[in-house]
Amino acid sequence: MLSVDEAFAAILAAVETSAPVSTALADALGLTLADDIISGIDSPPFDKSLMDGFAVRADDVTGGKTVLRVIDEVMAGNLPTKVVRQGEATRIMTGAPIPEGADAVVRVEETCFDAEAGTVEISSPSTAVESNLMRRGTSMRRGDRVLPAGRTLRPQELGALAELGVHTVNVRPRPTVAVLATGDELVAVDQTPGPGQIRNSNETMLVAQIRRAGGEPVPLGIARDNRKDLGERIAAGLQCDMLLLSGGVSAGKLDLVPSELEAAGVRQIFHKVRVKPGKPVWYGKLGVPNGACRHVFGLPGNPVSSLVCFELFARTAIRKLMGVEPSLPKTVPARMAAAHIARGDRPTYHPARLELSGEGAIVRPVAWQGSADLRSTVEANAMIQFPAGDQEYAAGDTVEVFCWDDLS
Ligand code: AMP
Ligand code: MG
Repeated sequence: MLSVDEAFAAILAAVETSAPVSTALADALGLTLADDIISGIDSPPFDKSLMDGFAVRADDVTGGKTVLRVIDEVMAGNLPTKVVRQGEATRIMTGAPIPEGADAVVRVEETCFDAEAGTVEISSPSTAVESNLMRRGTSMRRGDRVLPAGRTLRPQELGALAELGVHTVNVRPRPTVAVLATGDELVAVDQTPGPGQIRNSNETMLVAQIRRAGGEPVPLGIARDNRKDLGERIAAGLQCDMLLLSGGVSAGKLDLVPSELEAAGVRQIFHKVRVKPGKPVWYGKLGVPNGACRHVFGLPGNPVSSLVCFELFARTAIRKLMGVEPSLPKTVPARMAAAHIARGDRPTYHPARLELSGEGAIVRPVAWQGSADLRSTVEANAMIQFPAGDQEYAAGDTVEVFCWDDLS
């Protein structure tokens, strides 16, 4: 049986980042750049005022009161028409080009404008050369590498690209990820379960997890625990870049998923990982014509196993396909809020509540009845990684935590 780290390594080795596609900037949030972005412009594109005020020659502003003749007025979007000479000033607004001759802007708060006389009185005793203005190209220069290939696009990257006039970008596409729940006991979520039946809650959860990880979910409904139905639906799922099955991967009499996947030509890369919950998890790969690949995960049907195995393994594959770094789930150290006894023959991902407090990251395990207890995970925003074996923790001990929500 593989360790979690061995399973991670197997996934990273098996998954290749997808070939780039050209995408409109408006659709690129969360996608990863395939190429470096080189600036074709200077920013700002001209020397500009950072304040509303008066463009002056700094040398003119000396001691006591300075009175300057106002020769021009320039708004953002307009061009100055006059050179500022000794004893002169141009009234200027934020974002407007600095007139020739001026080398500083005095803020309007430090001035008194006499429109009738056409003069401005400056109350500050002096002004430094270059104050309140930004020279052309100080933010970036034409030819600068503004964004490196591999950068995942956030709002600020999209804004920078928009400033450059880049409206389509080469990015790694979102993989399509099919979700196929298996089980004779399952009914659709809008149905009332009969005796012995339960709702197919894993599909809804996995679709949401796929979307949050950046993939494009394709729900396929429920496959029954017989070879014909399962085989047909697996074939449909193999049209997508990835296929996630829920249930049918452990040792039960009707756990047909591994053998049906192999019958469909999917080559097993691992089956079973030393982890709790989620031990029966299965991963395999199928090559298809034109050099593409299908990645298939058989996730255990118990909801918390499904939740955790997605976050650990399927999400890693999605991120690697999308070129998102790091692809592996990241953990952070946190201090235990209270004493706790961890038991288990395998490394355990225990649902927990992580808080950022004045003393740093503090984590508290939630009461949890195991892999079928999804209810407890709604109180959690993270998982504590307890190593295998029995271990007593005191309040303040440090543990590693995988956070699955944005803590802000
Ligand atoms: P299995 O992995 O198929 O042996 O299923 C393990 C447990 O998870 C059983 O109690 C199933 O009823 C339950 N289960 C399987 N699939 C789902 C699903 N899609 N939604 C909710 N529970 C499920
Ligand atoms: Mg089952």
